[in-house]
Amino acid sequence: MQIIEVKTKSRPSTVYCGAGAAEKIGEVTRGKQLFVLTDTNVYRLYKEFIEEKFPAAALCVVPAGEKHKNRHTLFFILDKMLDARLRRNAMLVALGGGVVGDMGGLAASLYMRGISAVQVPTTLLAQVDSSVGGKTAIDHRGVKNVIGAFYQPQTVICDPLFLRTLPKRELRCGIGEIIKTGALDKGVYEKLKAGENRLFNLSFLEEITADCVRFKAGVVEKDECEKSGLRKSLNMGHTTGHALELFYGRRSHGAYVLIGMYFESLIAEREGILAHAYAEALRALIGKAVTLPHFENIGEAARVALYDKKNEGGDEISLIVPKDVGAYAELRLPVGRYIAYLQEIGGGIA
Ligand code: ADP
Ligand code: ZN
Repeated sequence: MQIIEVKTKSRPSTVYCGAGAAEKIGEVTRGKQLFVLTDTNVYRLYKEFIEEKFPAAALCVVPAGEKHKNRHTLFFILDKMLDARLRRNAMLVALGGGVVGDMGGLAASLYMRGISAVQVPTTLLAQVDSSVGGKTAIDHRGVKNVIGAFYQPQTVICDPLFLRTLPKRELRCGIGEIIKTGALDKGVYEKLKAGENRLFNLSFLEEITADCVRFKAGVVEKDECEKSGLRKSLNMGHTTGHALELFYGRRSHGAYVLIGMYFESLIAEREGILAHAYAEALRALIGKAVTLPHFENIGEAARVALYDKKNEGGDEISLIVPKDVGAYAELRLPVGRYIAYLQEIGGGIA
């Protein structure tokens, strides 16, 4: 197990990462009034674990899935917190995937203007990405994560024990963000290339999770609230990926991030930002995790991207694209050119 400190200005957090991390739960929660939030799937799979680790906690089980990441569930959670008579020094434990983590973090930030939050991410995606860095949110009126706060958890516990029950689709989702990290960090990239034929292997994932967390911690420390632009680099692949995700649905978020990176790497190559050999190596890596479908109407899907809140509007689109191993660039393109590129490239993929 590794211990990674995230030294943010608002509130430092400690990440325990690797086999044995869950054994820290006792120490972290000792003497606290506890509120444990989880979803129906995780509760079914980890009921005994929860009862053993949190014997005296108030428990709140919410329906699983992103479609429940809304104000109704948020206020249901807050009601349960009130019913449990949580005091200001109480602690909320969000045990589940990114959806539980996002809502649990937000509820913790709101209840009595903030009680401590502990994240116990149970999906690979949440372990490598969403549980670290303090982004919390719900979706509203069809806009993803539009109501939320930056609220750092006190502790994050990333234990690979949870990954054993995770379906391959959910593993792929996390691998998407891991490969994205590989396009930003040389160390992660080299490990991925060396292990590209065992991407779905749990011992490989366990090892690389800590590297991804360490990388993300470094970014979050320097740009906690996404102000300097550094944290924005974590959105690589997300502009196109998110547009396709909204338009086509079905696949997991991480799969769309990879598909987004794939298309954006082709654009970056044509724009002369990215050299062909490295672009091919990256796309080969992406191909190990996801099969690329043929997309119809990709231009229309791309238009949706223009409403992505991550783009500041206007006639230009901003993409974070790989440049070289461990280096990225921001590419600003007129919307028309971006869409034309996608139409051209999308049509060529079968
Ligand atoms: P994310 O992919 O952002 O982490 P979710 O919180 O929606 O998203 O989790 C994805 C799905 O996986 C949900 O249906 C959730 O209930 C389920 N899930 C979470 N953790 C586990 C686990 N350890 N084993 C099996 N299923 C899990
Ligand atoms: Zn993402």
